[in-house]
Amino acid sequence: MAEVKLIDVVKRYADGTEAVSRVNLTIRNEEFMVLVGPSGCGKSTTLRMVAGLEDISAGDLYIGERRVNDVPPKDRDIAMVFQNYALYPHMTVRENMAFGLKLRGFSKQDIRQRVEEAARIVGLETLLERRPKALSGGQRQRVALGRAIVRRPAVFLFDEPLSNLDAELRVRMRTEIARLHRQLSATMLYVTHDQTEAMTMGDRIAVLSGGVLQQVDTPLQLYHHP
Ligand code: ADP
Ligand code: ADP
Repeated sequence: MAEVKLIDVVKRYADGTEAVSRVNLTIRNEEFMVLVGPSGCGKSTTLRMVAGLEDISAGDLYIGERRVNDVPPKDRDIAMVFQNYALYPHMTVRENMAFGLKLRGFSKQDIRQRVEEAARIVGLETLLERRPKALSGGQRQRVALGRAIVRRPAVFLFDEPLSNLDAELRVRMRTEIARLHRQLSATMLYVTHDQTEAMTMGDRIAVLSGGVLQQVDTPLQLYHHP
């Protein structure tokens, strides 16, 4: 259980680019928030700051009650799903899903149980011993989802996770991620440039443009007052 709160958050890159300008945004506990906007508007930078993969230049970031500005990624209660899946090619599906848990010192028995539970949730029970190259795009994306799920984080972060999939699969995975959200009762922040994805998946949508947060509303409100 966690709320994510950005207070006057700024990101200035070393070359002087202000990618994110004083963003104030609260993602409520168990909310599905979509962050949308054109290429280069600062979506990925925002997500990476929440993940701890980029430093914050100014402002405060909270995950739950905890100010996490200086907390490293592995100590934040988050898991991230990437566009390119970021799977390890030499490892099986099971090993890919287990890897983060192994690093964190989970017992063999606990890892097995969590991996098998996650595999059931994403429908990969029969593919656990395969390597990524023997999987379809949709199956690879499910492994990436499974790898996030085994961690049981309070917050899931998605960086355009469906943009490498064909149209049909994209629609199917949208439904699957929405189902996951209900099933896991987690807080989710989902970055996309796809308006349809935003409108169909978000409890609320945050619209970013040129590093500035323009609007935060439900899909219905946005549809009537764009
Ligand atoms: P989006 O995810 O919406 O496409 P990004 O967050 O990737 O946008 O980028 C926001 C802005 O910051 C863009 O102008 C981009 O060129 C710039 N930017 C991104 N990463 C860096 C970096 N490492 N150094 C300098 N500028 C960057
Ligand atoms: P995972 O969290 O996927 O099980 P790790 O424990 O190695 O794998 O990840 C440590 C941190 O690094 C996590 O916060 C994760 O979000 C981040 N991370 C994992 N893969 C990548 C990647 N390909 N690029 C950038 N960051 C990554």
